[in-house]
Parts: sequence; structure tokens; C-alpha cells
Amino acid sequence: MPEGHTVHRTANKFAKLFANKQLEVSSPQGRFTDSRLVSGQQLVSADAIGKQMFLFFEHAVVRVHLGIYGKWRFANFDDAAPVPVGQVRARFLSETAVADLVGPTACEVIDSDQVALVQARLGPDPLRQDLDGLELARFLAKAAKTRVAIGQFLMNQAAIAGIGNVYRAELLFRQGINPHLPTNLVPTELLEKIWQDASFLMQIGVKKGIMLTREGHLNGRPALADRYYVYKREGLPCRICGAEVSLELMSTRKLYWCRTCQK
Ligand SMILES: [Zn+2]
Repeated sequence: MPEGHTVHRTANKFAKLFANKQLEVSSPQGRFTDSRLVSGQQLVSADAIGKQMFLFFEHAVVRVHLGIYGKWRFANFDDAAPVPVGQVRARFLSETAVADLVGPTACEVIDSDQVALVQARLGPDPLRQDLDGLELARFLAKAAKTRVAIGQFLMNQAAIAGIGNVYRAELLFRQGINPHLPTNLVPTELLEKIWQDASFLMQIGVKKGIMLTREGHLNGRPALADRYYVYKREGLPCRICGAEVSLELMSTRKLYWCRTCQK
């Protein structure tokens, strides 16, 4: 499943390709019948919160959540748009570019009241600009109230939006935090560091389109095997202490961590 940086990246791409353009919106596959409610309108802006994307048209909003199987396909063209391939749920078409959405968990037209409801349900997003510190304050307030393990807390989209399995494992490793520690027992300064580190690493992800988390390997395009401290490295020696990296299930999701570095 894509993590938040991918969705922000897609929103940026959407804005760049389509902002202030009148779009023809259709559903080649037929399931997105509400496409007619926005077709012919201009796209005003595109925004992401966590893993959800919002396409703001003049009179309505399209909400998209890719889920596990969803994918976007973008193309520029000169004469004619490429023919839709496969089960295209939604097609967004300008005179020179097309975006096809395949296999999303959600693609629906909503109004601004419903946008506010969805946004209120989602947790603070470390990729949103937070000049007044309100997003961080929301994160800390939620953390103070729960005894659920920090490793599980970080995967809760209502606690912090946009983090997935890769960033969860790597953020905890980088701060040396045991994923089983109850969230309310994690010192506030460490929670602040997690938040700031999430913001830092995910901005790199938005810029580069890949997740990089390892000091000394945050530039360029390192090979997959060199990108992470613990993610998918179970059984291999920890890059810092040499102990075997552990793999376990935490509420059905694979959790990678070093029992020595993360006490
Ligand atoms: Zn270690």
C-alpha cells in the first residue's frame, strides 16, 4: 500500500497537469457513475491528507483512496488520448493529458461538508505545513491519551496520517524506541522527534518518489537493499549493532525492529 508521500506526490502531479483546466471526467469501466457530477468543471486544486486525495472541482470534490491495489496512470499526448487499458474506474482528461485510476478502494464525489468530516476523522499529517505547530500538538495530545503500543499507534491513520509499514519501522529504529512501549509512556521529546523525523523523511519521499531512511543514503537513488535500517531485513545483521533484525506480527502487520538498538 502506498504511504502518504506517494499520495502527496500524486496530488502535486495532478495540480501541475490539470489545475485551472476544464476536465472531462468519465468511468470507462462504468462503476464511477458520479463522474458526471464533476465532468466539464475546472479542477481548482488537488490536496492530500495522509493516504487520501481530494480533487477540488468548481462545485464538488472527488475523494480517492487507493487502498492496496489502486494505481494511477498518467500520460501526456499530442493528438488523441491513449485508449483506457484494463478496469479504469475513473478517467480525468484535459486537451493534452490524461490520468487513469485503476482499482481504488474509494473514488467518490462528495461536497465540502463531507470533506470536512473526512478531514476531521484523519489524524495530523506530518507532510502538511505546520507553522503554528497545531498538527504536532494534535499528535501529542492523541499520544498522551493512549496506552496502545507505539508501533501500533503510528499505523493508526487517526493518530498520524500517512505513515505505513516502512516509515513505521524506520522511524522507531531511528529514535531507538521499542515498538511495544505504550504510547503514553514515550517521552514527549521523543514523540516530537518522531514527528519531525516523519516530516523530514516523507518530504524526501515526496521529492524523490522513493522512501529513503538511512543516514548517508538519503541522496541519489540507492539500491533497495541499501535503503533501510530494518524494513524487510529480518535475520540480517543490524546495520548499527550487528544483532539479528527481528520480524514479528503486530496486529496482523509485519513489524521489523532491532531488539538491541530499540530497548
Ligand atoms: Zn541494532
